[in-house]
Amino acid sequence: MTRLIFLGPPGAGKGTQAQMLCQSYDVPHISTGDILRAAVKEKTDLGLKAEGFMKAGELVPDDLILGLIRERLSKEDTANGWLLDGFPRNVEQAEFLNALLEEIGQSCDVVINLEVPDDVLVERLLDRGRVDDKEDVIRNRLEVYREQTEPLIALYDGRNQLQSVNGNQELSLVTDELTKIVES
Ligand code: AMP
Repeated sequence: MTRLIFLGPPGAGKGTQAQMLCQSYDVPHISTGDILRAAVKEKTDLGLKAEGFMKAGELVPDDLILGLIRERLSKEDTANGWLLDGFPRNVEQAEFLNALLEEIGQSCDVVINLEVPDDVLVERLLDRGRVDDKEDVIRNRLEVYREQTEPLIALYDGRNQLQSVNGNQELSLVTDELTKIVES
């Protein structure tokens, strides 16, 4: 059983590392960003409501996100565990998740914080070139991260659930460190 939360700023490499770990441990990679981007592409109700926030680098409102997570974590493919990438993103989402996990009799094993310096993040995001990877939007996403998501580091640290990993090193070295954490 493997249940993990990935924290870390945009551009830290959460998606890439999450994909590899999920393959190794055969658990679903639950990325709220991927779910939202798919919804935008398909022009669903959720997608239409979320698109403007995403383009501006703002968080999509909680009322659009929380139900989606509840539904996703109740699917059968989570029997073996899950990896949450990009959720929770603020204190309200973290408290919701806490209550939800209690309700469904689950608990998170570890919260992993991928650390990467700001200048490296901006460079990586500019290289990636997604629609929300323009310089002013990147700056806003980093600011939103600092203001709303970074407080979760102290929150999970206070609950003795946090492990930090240096994300500013070769990909395979990051994967090795993450694997050690998951297996410890
Ligand atoms: P990501 O792929 O995780 O960087 O997410 C891309 C964008 O989707 C973010 O900038 C937000 O606009 C939105 N998003 C993803 N996850 C969340 C979340 N948990 N809460 C609110 N907005 C989110």
